[in-house]
Amino acid sequence: MLDMKWIREHADEVQQTADRKGISLSVKELLERDKNRRAELAELERLRQNRNRLTEEIRAAMQRDGQAKSDLLRAEIADNKRRIQETEIAYSQADSEFKRLLLLVPNIVSQDTPVGVSDADNVKVRSWGLPPEFGFELRDHVELGRMLGILDTQRGVKVAGSRNYYLKGDGFRLQRAVQQLALDVLERKGFDFLEVPLMVGREAMVNTGFFPLGEDQTYPIAGEERWLVGTSEVPLIGYFSGDLVDLSQGPVKAASASVCFRSEVGSAGRDTSGLYRVHQFSKVEQVVICRNDPALSEALLQEITANAEEILQLLELPYQVMAVCTGDMSQKTYKQFDIETWMPSRGSYGETHSSSNLQDFQARRSNIRYREEDGCLQFCHTLNNTAVATPRILIPLLENHQREDGSVYIPLALRPYMGGREVLNPSR
Ligand code: AMP
Repeated sequence: MLDMKWIREHADEVQQTADRKGISLSVKELLERDKNRRAELAELERLRQNRNRLTEEIRAAMQRDGQAKSDLLRAEIADNKRRIQETEIAYSQADSEFKRLLLLVPNIVSQDTPVGVSDADNVKVRSWGLPPEFGFELRDHVELGRMLGILDTQRGVKVAGSRNYYLKGDGFRLQRAVQQLALDVLERKGFDFLEVPLMVGREAMVNTGFFPLGEDQTYPIAGEERWLVGTSEVPLIGYFSGDLVDLSQGPVKAASASVCFRSEVGSAGRDTSGLYRVHQFSKVEQVVICRNDPALSEALLQEITANAEEILQLLELPYQVMAVCTGDMSQKTYKQFDIETWMPSRGSYGETHSSSNLQDFQARRSNIRYREEDGCLQFCHTLNNTAVATPRILIPLLENHQREDGSVYIPLALRPYMGGREVLNPSR
Protein backbone atom coordinates (compact mmCIF):
# COMPACT_ATOMS: atom_id res chain seq x y z
CA MET A 1 0.00 0.00 0.00
CA LEU A 2 1.30 3.43 -0.87
CA ASP A 3 0.73 6.52 1.18
CA MET A 4 -2.43 8.33 -0.05
CA LYS A 5 -0.77 11.74 0.00
CA TRP A 6 2.03 10.32 -2.17
CA ILE A 7 -0.50 8.77 -4.56
CA ARG A 8 -2.28 12.13 -4.95
CA GLU A 9 1.01 13.82 -5.78
CA HIS A 10 2.23 11.06 -8.16
CA ALA A 11 -1.04 10.00 -9.82
CA ASP A 12 0.48 9.67 -13.31
CA GLU A 13 3.37 7.51 -12.09
CA VAL A 14 0.99 5.23 -10.18
CA GLN A 15 -1.30 4.88 -13.21
CA GLN A 16 1.67 4.08 -15.46
CA THR A 17 2.91 1.43 -13.02
CA ALA A 18 -0.56 -0.15 -12.78
CA ASP A 19 -0.74 -0.27 -16.58
CA ARG A 20 2.73 -1.76 -16.86
CA LYS A 21 1.98 -4.38 -14.21
CA GLY A 22 -1.26 -5.27 -15.99
CA ILE A 23 -3.47 -4.18 -13.07
CA SER A 24 -6.90 -2.87 -13.99
CA LEU A 25 -7.14 0.31 -11.93
CA SER A 26 -8.19 3.87 -12.67
CA VAL A 27 -6.19 6.18 -10.43
CA LYS A 28 -8.53 9.01 -11.48
CA GLU A 29 -11.46 7.03 -10.06
CA LEU A 30 -9.49 6.31 -6.88
CA LEU A 31 -8.81 10.02 -6.41
CA GLU A 32 -12.49 10.84 -6.99
CA ARG A 33 -13.54 8.24 -4.41
CA ASP A 34 -11.00 9.68 -2.02
CA LYS A 35 -12.47 13.14 -2.56
CA ASN A 36 -16.03 11.84 -2.00
CA ARG A 37 -15.04 10.01 1.11
CA ARG A 38 -13.32 13.06 2.57
CA ALA A 39 -16.27 15.30 1.66
CA GLU A 40 -18.69 12.91 3.42
CA LEU A 41 -16.39 12.79 6.43
CA ALA A 42 -16.17 16.59 6.61
CA GLU A 43 -19.98 16.81 6.41
CA LEU A 44 -20.27 14.19 9.14
CA GLU A 45 -17.92 16.16 11.38
CA ARG A 46 -19.87 19.36 10.69
CA LEU A 47 -23.16 17.65 11.61
CA ARG A 48 -21.67 16.16 14.77
CA GLN A 49 -20.40 19.58 15.86
CA ASN A 50 -23.87 20.93 15.10
CA ARG A 51 -25.39 18.24 17.32
CA ASN A 52 -23.10 19.25 20.18
CA ARG A 53 -23.96 22.90 19.69
CA LEU A 54 -27.72 22.16 19.61
CA THR A 55 -27.49 20.04 22.76
CA GLU A 56 -25.78 22.93 24.52
CA GLU A 57 -28.38 25.35 23.22
CA ILE A 58 -31.32 23.22 24.36
CA ARG A 59 -29.85 23.03 27.84
CA ALA A 60 -29.48 26.82 28.00
CA ALA A 61 -32.97 27.40 26.45
CA MET A 62 -34.63 25.10 28.99
CA GLN A 63 -33.16 27.16 31.81
CA ARG A 64 -33.80 30.51 30.17
CA ASP A 65 -37.00 30.29 28.08
CA GLY A 66 -38.76 27.12 29.24
CA GLN A 67 -40.53 24.56 27.02
CA ALA A 68 -41.57 26.61 23.93
CA LYS A 69 -38.09 27.45 22.61
CA SER A 70 -36.73 24.01 23.44
CA ASP A 71 -39.47 22.32 21.32
CA LEU A 72 -38.12 24.11 18.25
CA LEU A 73 -34.60 23.03 19.09
CA ARG A 74 -35.74 19.44 19.63
CA ALA A 75 -37.11 19.35 16.05
CA GLU A 76 -33.80 20.71 14.79
CA ILE A 77 -31.91 18.04 16.76
CA ALA A 78 -34.11 15.28 15.31
CA ASP A 79 -33.46 16.59 11.80
CA ASN A 80 -29.73 16.77 12.49
CA LYS A 81 -29.78 13.19 13.83
CA ARG A 82 -31.48 11.94 10.66
CA ARG A 83 -28.86 13.72 8.52
CA ILE A 84 -26.05 12.25 10.63
CA GLN A 85 -27.44 8.75 10.06
CA GLU A 86 -27.74 9.33 6.29
CA THR A 87 -24.25 10.79 6.08
CA GLU A 88 -22.79 7.91 8.12
CA ILE A 89 -24.21 5.47 5.56
CA ALA A 90 -22.97 7.61 2.64
CA TYR A 91 -19.52 7.89 4.24
CA SER A 92 -19.29 4.17 4.92
CA GLN A 93 -20.20 3.37 1.28
CA ALA A 94 -17.74 5.94 -0.10
CA ASP A 95 -15.02 4.69 2.26
CA SER A 96 -15.42 1.01 1.39
CA GLU A 97 -15.40 1.78 -2.34
CA PHE A 98 -12.26 3.88 -1.82
CA LYS A 99 -10.59 1.11 0.20
CA ARG A 100 -11.48 -1.49 -2.45
CA LEU A 101 -9.64 0.57 -5.06
CA LEU A 102 -6.76 1.44 -2.73
CA LEU A 103 -6.01 -2.28 -2.30
CA LEU A 104 -5.43 -2.50 -6.06
CA VAL A 105 -2.77 0.23 -6.14
CA PRO A 106 0.58 -1.31 -7.15
CA ASN A 107 3.91 -0.65 -5.58
CA ILE A 108 6.10 1.54 -7.75
CA VAL A 109 9.10 -0.14 -9.35
CA SER A 110 12.80 0.60 -9.12
CA GLN A 111 14.43 2.78 -11.77
CA ASP A 112 16.50 -0.16 -13.02
CA THR A 113 13.51 -2.49 -13.51
CA PRO A 114 13.19 -3.42 -17.19
CA VAL A 115 9.92 -2.36 -18.82
CA GLY A 116 8.22 -5.32 -20.49
CA VAL A 117 5.07 -7.33 -20.90
CA SER A 118 5.97 -10.88 -19.91
CA ASP A 119 8.84 -13.09 -18.72
CA ALA A 120 10.18 -13.02 -22.29
CA ASP A 121 11.22 -9.42 -21.56
CA ASN A 122 13.20 -10.27 -18.41
CA VAL A 123 16.87 -9.39 -18.73
CA LYS A 124 19.79 -11.72 -17.90
CA VAL A 125 22.05 -10.27 -15.21
CA ARG A 126 24.56 -13.11 -14.81
CA SER A 127 24.88 -16.85 -15.12
CA TRP A 128 26.81 -19.61 -13.40
CA GLY A 129 27.91 -22.97 -14.83
CA LEU A 130 27.18 -24.32 -18.27
CA PRO A 131 24.39 -26.64 -19.44
CA PRO A 132 25.93 -30.13 -19.54
CA GLU A 133 26.44 -31.95 -22.83
CA PHE A 134 25.23 -35.52 -22.91
CA GLY A 135 26.68 -38.12 -25.25
CA PHE A 136 23.55 -40.24 -24.93
CA GLU A 137 19.79 -39.95 -25.24
CA LEU A 138 18.42 -37.74 -22.46
CA ARG A 139 15.72 -38.89 -20.08
CA ASP A 140 13.35 -36.43 -18.46
CA HIS A 141 12.79 -36.37 -14.69
CA VAL A 142 9.53 -38.33 -14.94
CA GLU A 143 11.28 -41.19 -16.75
CA LEU A 144 14.30 -41.02 -14.42
CA GLY A 145 11.99 -40.90 -11.39
CA ARG A 146 10.16 -43.97 -12.63
CA MET A 147 13.41 -45.88 -13.30
CA LEU A 148 14.79 -44.94 -9.87
CA GLY A 149 11.48 -45.87 -8.26
CA ILE A 150 11.25 -42.47 -6.55
CA LEU A 151 8.38 -40.71 -8.31
CA ASP A 152 4.83 -41.73 -9.13
CA THR A 153 2.73 -39.12 -10.91
CA GLN A 154 0.01 -41.57 -11.99
CA ARG A 155 -0.98 -42.42 -8.45
CA GLY A 156 -0.79 -38.74 -7.53
CA VAL A 157 -3.41 -38.03 -10.19
CA LYS A 158 -5.46 -41.10 -9.18
CA VAL A 159 -5.69 -39.97 -5.57
CA ALA A 160 -5.66 -36.16 -5.79
CA GLY A 161 -6.34 -35.17 -9.41
CA SER A 162 -4.14 -33.44 -11.95
CA ARG A 163 -0.83 -31.81 -10.94
CA ASN A 164 -0.27 -34.18 -8.01
CA TYR A 165 2.47 -36.73 -7.33
CA TYR A 166 4.04 -39.12 -4.85
CA LEU A 167 7.74 -39.01 -3.93
CA LYS A 168 8.88 -42.39 -2.66
CA GLY A 169 11.94 -43.76 -0.86
CA ASP A 170 14.98 -41.92 -2.18
CA GLY A 171 12.67 -39.32 -3.75
CA PHE A 172 11.29 -38.51 -0.32
CA ARG A 173 14.86 -38.45 1.08
CA LEU A 174 16.11 -36.27 -1.76
CA GLN A 175 13.37 -33.70 -1.17
CA ARG A 176 14.19 -33.61 2.56
CA ALA A 177 17.94 -33.50 1.85
CA VAL A 178 17.66 -30.49 -0.43
CA GLN A 179 15.53 -28.66 2.11
CA GLN A 180 17.89 -29.42 4.99
CA LEU A 181 20.89 -28.29 2.95
CA ALA A 182 19.07 -24.99 2.28
CA LEU A 183 18.11 -24.59 5.94
CA ASP A 184 21.72 -25.20 7.04
CA VAL A 185 22.97 -22.55 4.60
CA LEU A 186 20.39 -20.09 5.98
CA GLU A 187 21.27 -20.91 9.57
CA ARG A 188 24.90 -20.01 8.83
CA LYS A 189 23.62 -16.69 7.44
CA GLY A 190 21.87 -15.87 10.72
CA PHE A 191 18.27 -16.80 9.86
CA ASP A 192 15.84 -17.86 12.60
CA PHE A 193 13.37 -20.60 11.77
CA LEU A 194 9.66 -20.66 12.37
CA GLU A 195 7.11 -23.44 11.98
CA VAL A 196 4.11 -21.49 10.70
CA PRO A 197 0.32 -21.82 10.30
CA LEU A 198 -0.60 -22.89 6.79
CA MET A 199 -4.26 -21.90 7.04
CA VAL A 200 -4.62 -18.17 7.57
CA GLY A 201 -7.36 -15.54 7.77
CA ARG A 202 -8.24 -12.97 5.13
CA GLU A 203 -6.42 -10.17 6.92
CA ALA A 204 -3.07 -11.95 6.68
CA MET A 205 -3.62 -12.48 2.94
CA VAL A 206 -4.66 -8.85 2.36
CA ASN A 207 -1.90 -7.40 4.54
CA THR A 208 0.83 -9.32 2.74
CA GLY A 209 -0.52 -8.27 -0.67
CA PHE A 210 -1.81 -11.67 -1.84
CA PHE A 211 -5.48 -10.60 -1.70
CA PRO A 212 -7.53 -9.33 -3.40
CA LEU A 213 -5.59 -9.77 -6.67
CA GLY A 214 -4.29 -13.29 -5.99
CA GLU A 215 -7.36 -14.70 -4.29
CA ASP A 216 -8.19 -17.02 -7.18
CA GLN A 217 -4.74 -18.64 -6.78
CA THR A 218 -5.61 -19.88 -3.29
CA TYR A 219 -7.70 -22.70 -1.85
CA PRO A 220 -10.35 -21.59 0.66
CA ILE A 221 -11.27 -23.84 3.56
CA ALA A 222 -14.94 -24.70 3.05
CA GLY A 223 -17.24 -23.00 5.55
CA GLU A 224 -14.45 -20.97 7.15
CA GLU A 225 -12.89 -17.57 6.57
CA ARG A 226 -9.48 -19.20 6.12
CA TRP A 227 -7.26 -20.06 3.18
CA LEU A 228 -4.33 -22.43 2.53
CA VAL A 229 -1.17 -20.41 1.99
CA GLY A 230 0.65 -20.45 -1.33
CA THR A 231 3.88 -19.46 0.42
CA SER A 232 5.10 -19.20 4.01
CA GLU A 233 5.87 -15.53 3.29
CA VAL A 234 2.26 -14.91 4.40
CA PRO A 235 2.53 -16.32 7.94
CA LEU A 236 6.17 -15.18 8.29
CA ILE A 237 5.30 -11.55 7.57
CA GLY A 238 1.94 -11.95 9.33
CA TYR A 239 3.81 -12.87 12.51
CA PHE A 240 5.13 -9.29 12.69
CA SER A 241 1.92 -7.50 11.64
CA GLY A 242 1.02 -4.63 13.96
CA ASP A 243 4.43 -4.88 15.65
CA LEU A 244 7.07 -2.34 16.51
CA VAL A 245 10.05 -4.42 15.40
CA ASP A 246 13.40 -4.09 17.14
CA LEU A 247 15.94 -3.46 14.37
CA SER A 248 18.66 -2.10 16.65
CA GLN A 249 20.71 -5.28 16.19
CA GLY A 250 20.21 -5.30 12.38
CA PRO A 251 17.54 -6.74 10.08
CA VAL A 252 15.16 -9.51 11.14
CA LYS A 253 15.92 -12.64 9.11
CA ALA A 254 13.26 -15.34 9.32
CA ALA A 255 12.83 -18.57 7.40
CA SER A 256 10.45 -21.46 7.23
CA ALA A 257 10.10 -24.78 5.44
CA SER A 258 6.47 -25.26 4.54
CA VAL A 259 4.06 -26.90 2.20
CA CYS A 260 2.51 -24.45 -0.28
CA PHE A 261 -0.80 -24.79 -2.11
CA ARG A 262 -1.69 -23.10 -5.38
CA SER A 263 -4.74 -23.48 -7.57
CA GLU A 264 -2.71 -22.46 -10.65
CA VAL A 265 -5.84 -20.92 -12.14
CA GLY A 266 -4.87 -19.44 -15.47
CA SER A 267 -2.21 -22.10 -16.12
CA ALA A 268 -4.58 -24.56 -17.80
CA GLY A 269 -2.68 -26.59 -20.37
CA ARG A 270 0.73 -25.21 -19.27
CA ASP A 271 3.41 -27.55 -17.85
CA THR A 272 0.90 -30.33 -17.38
CA SER A 273 3.34 -33.23 -17.22
CA GLY A 274 5.89 -33.80 -14.50
CA LEU A 275 6.83 -31.80 -11.47
CA TYR A 276 7.17 -28.28 -12.85
CA ARG A 277 3.75 -26.87 -11.99
CA VAL A 278 1.91 -28.73 -9.25
CA HIS A 279 -0.81 -27.83 -6.77
CA GLN A 280 1.18 -28.75 -3.66
CA PHE A 281 4.88 -28.21 -3.19
CA SER A 282 7.38 -27.47 -0.43
CA LYS A 283 9.42 -24.34 -0.10
CA VAL A 284 12.16 -23.09 2.16
CA GLU A 285 11.53 -19.35 2.21
CA GLN A 286 13.68 -16.43 3.33
CA VAL A 287 12.05 -13.29 4.68
CA VAL A 288 13.90 -10.15 5.75
CA ILE A 289 12.61 -7.06 7.57
CA CYS A 290 14.89 -4.04 7.70
CA ARG A 291 15.02 -0.27 8.20
CA ASN A 292 13.34 2.05 5.72
CA ASP A 293 16.58 2.61 3.84
CA PRO A 294 16.59 1.97 0.06
CA ALA A 295 20.35 1.33 -0.04
CA LEU A 296 20.07 -1.22 2.79
CA SER A 297 17.13 -3.11 1.30
CA GLU A 298 18.86 -3.16 -2.09
CA ALA A 299 21.97 -4.69 -0.44
CA LEU A 300 19.74 -7.25 1.31
CA LEU A 301 18.03 -8.12 -1.98
CA GLN A 302 21.47 -8.91 -3.38
CA GLU A 303 22.25 -10.91 -0.23
CA ILE A 304 19.14 -13.13 -0.28
CA THR A 305 19.63 -13.68 -4.01
CA ALA A 306 23.24 -14.72 -3.33
CA ASN A 307 22.01 -17.14 -0.63
CA ALA A 308 19.88 -18.93 -3.21
CA GLU A 309 22.76 -18.91 -5.69
CA GLU A 310 25.02 -20.49 -3.09
CA ILE A 311 22.51 -23.31 -2.64
CA LEU A 312 22.33 -23.88 -6.40
CA GLN A 313 26.12 -23.93 -6.62
CA LEU A 314 26.22 -26.51 -3.82
CA LEU A 315 23.75 -28.54 -5.88
CA GLU A 316 26.13 -28.10 -8.86
CA LEU A 317 23.34 -26.77 -11.07
CA PRO A 318 23.80 -24.20 -13.87
CA TYR A 319 21.59 -21.17 -13.48
CA GLN A 320 21.02 -17.61 -14.64
CA VAL A 321 19.81 -14.61 -12.68
CA MET A 322 17.16 -12.52 -14.44
CA ALA A 323 16.05 -8.93 -13.74
CA VAL A 324 12.28 -9.29 -13.81
CA CYS A 325 10.37 -6.82 -15.98
CA THR A 326 7.32 -4.75 -15.00
CA GLY A 327 4.78 -7.03 -16.73
CA ASP A 328 6.08 -10.15 -14.96
CA MET A 329 6.03 -8.55 -11.50
CA SER A 330 3.37 -8.79 -8.89
CA GLN A 331 1.46 -5.82 -7.48
CA LYS A 332 3.56 -5.62 -4.33
CA THR A 333 7.03 -5.83 -5.87
CA TYR A 334 9.46 -2.92 -6.14
CA LYS A 335 12.37 -4.88 -7.60
CA GLN A 336 12.73 -8.57 -8.43
CA PHE A 337 15.26 -11.13 -9.58
CA ASP A 338 14.24 -14.58 -10.72
CA ILE A 339 16.75 -17.38 -10.77
CA GLU A 340 16.30 -19.86 -13.58
CA THR A 341 17.99 -23.24 -13.44
CA TRP A 342 18.94 -25.30 -16.49
CA MET A 343 16.34 -27.98 -17.20
CA PRO A 344 17.65 -30.34 -19.91
CA SER A 345 14.27 -31.86 -20.84
CA ARG A 346 12.85 -28.39 -21.49
CA GLY A 347 16.01 -27.38 -23.36
CA SER A 348 15.90 -24.12 -21.43
CA TYR A 349 16.32 -22.47 -18.06
CA GLY A 350 13.21 -22.68 -15.87
CA GLU A 351 12.32 -20.44 -12.92
CA THR A 352 13.24 -21.98 -9.58
CA HIS A 353 13.61 -18.91 -7.32
CA SER A 354 12.03 -15.50 -6.99
CA SER A 355 13.73 -12.75 -5.00
CA SER A 356 11.86 -9.54 -4.21
CA ASN A 357 12.31 -6.21 -2.49
CA LEU A 358 8.89 -4.80 -1.57
CA GLN A 359 10.28 -1.69 0.16
CA ASP A 360 7.58 -0.47 2.61
CA PHE A 361 4.55 -1.60 0.57
CA GLN A 362 3.85 -4.77 2.58
CA ALA A 363 4.84 -3.21 5.91
CA ARG A 364 2.32 -0.39 5.40
CA ARG A 365 -0.46 -2.89 4.71
CA SER A 366 0.67 -5.02 7.67
CA ASN A 367 1.49 -2.06 9.91
CA ILE A 368 5.02 -3.26 10.68
CA ARG A 369 7.08 -0.38 12.04
CA TYR A 370 10.27 0.35 13.96
CA ARG A 371 11.66 3.31 15.86
CA GLU A 372 14.42 5.32 14.20
CA GLU A 373 17.34 6.57 16.31
CA ASP A 374 15.71 10.04 16.44
CA GLY A 375 12.57 8.44 17.96
CA CYS A 376 10.40 8.66 14.82
CA LEU A 377 8.25 5.68 13.90
CA GLN A 378 8.83 4.38 10.37
CA PHE A 379 7.43 1.58 8.24
CA CYS A 380 10.00 -1.19 7.63
CA HIS A 381 11.15 -2.55 4.28
CA THR A 382 10.40 -6.24 3.65
CA LEU A 383 12.03 -8.73 1.28
CA ASN A 384 11.62 -12.38 0.43
CA ASN A 385 13.23 -15.09 -1.66
CA THR A 386 12.98 -18.80 -2.19
CA ALA A 387 15.89 -20.73 -0.71
CA VAL A 388 14.78 -23.89 -2.43
CA ALA A 389 11.44 -25.17 -3.77
CA THR A 390 10.75 -28.85 -4.23
CA PRO A 391 9.75 -30.80 -6.22
CA ARG A 392 10.58 -28.27 -8.97
CA ILE A 393 14.28 -28.31 -8.07
CA LEU A 394 14.27 -32.10 -8.52
CA ILE A 395 13.81 -31.50 -12.27
CA PRO A 396 17.27 -29.96 -12.79
CA LEU A 397 18.76 -32.10 -10.04
CA LEU A 398 17.78 -35.41 -11.63
CA GLU A 399 18.13 -34.33 -15.24
CA ASN A 400 21.50 -32.50 -15.09
CA HIS A 401 23.11 -35.22 -13.00
CA GLN A 402 21.79 -38.22 -14.96
CA ARG A 403 24.02 -40.85 -16.52
CA GLU A 404 23.51 -43.12 -19.49
CA ASP A 405 22.33 -46.09 -17.42
CA GLY A 406 19.64 -44.00 -15.70
CA SER A 407 21.61 -43.57 -12.48
CA VAL A 408 21.88 -40.09 -10.99
CA TYR A 409 24.97 -38.52 -9.43
CA ILE A 410 24.45 -36.95 -6.01
CA PRO A 411 26.32 -33.61 -5.61
CA LEU A 412 29.02 -33.61 -2.92
CA ALA A 413 27.25 -31.13 -0.64
CA LEU A 414 24.09 -33.23 -0.64
CA ARG A 415 25.72 -36.51 0.28
CA PRO A 416 25.82 -35.96 4.06
CA TYR A 417 22.03 -35.60 3.89
CA MET A 418 21.70 -38.77 1.80
CA GLY A 419 23.53 -41.12 4.13
CA GLY A 420 26.83 -40.52 2.30
CA ARG A 421 25.53 -42.00 -0.94
CA GLU A 422 27.20 -40.88 -4.18
CA VAL A 423 24.66 -42.06 -6.69
CA LEU A 424 21.03 -43.14 -7.05
CA ASN A 425 20.71 -46.34 -9.02
CA PRO A 426 17.76 -47.53 -11.12
CA SER A 427 15.67 -50.05 -9.28
CA ARG A 428 14.69 -51.86 -12.48
P1 AMP B 1 6.84 -17.61 -5.95
O1 AMP B 1 6.53 -17.76 -4.51
O2 AMP B 1 5.62 -17.57 -6.85
O3 AMP B 1 7.79 -16.51 -6.23
O4 AMP B 1 7.56 -18.96 -6.38
C1 AMP B 1 8.78 -19.33 -5.81
C2 AMP B 1 9.19 -20.66 -6.34
O5 AMP B 1 8.27 -21.65 -5.91
C3 AMP B 1 9.20 -20.78 -7.86
O6 AMP B 1 10.36 -20.22 -8.42
C4 AMP B 1 9.14 -22.27 -8.01
O7 AMP B 1 10.38 -22.89 -7.78
C5 AMP B 1 8.19 -22.67 -6.88
N1 AMP B 1 6.81 -22.78 -7.37
C6 AMP B 1 5.91 -21.79 -7.48
N2 AMP B 1 4.73 -22.27 -7.94
C7 AMP B 1 4.90 -23.59 -8.12
C8 AMP B 1 4.06 -24.64 -8.58
N3 AMP B 1 2.79 -24.44 -8.91
N4 AMP B 1 4.56 -25.88 -8.64
C9 AMP B 1 5.85 -26.12 -8.27
N5 AMP B 1 6.67 -25.18 -7.82
C10 AMP B 1 6.23 -23.92 -7.75
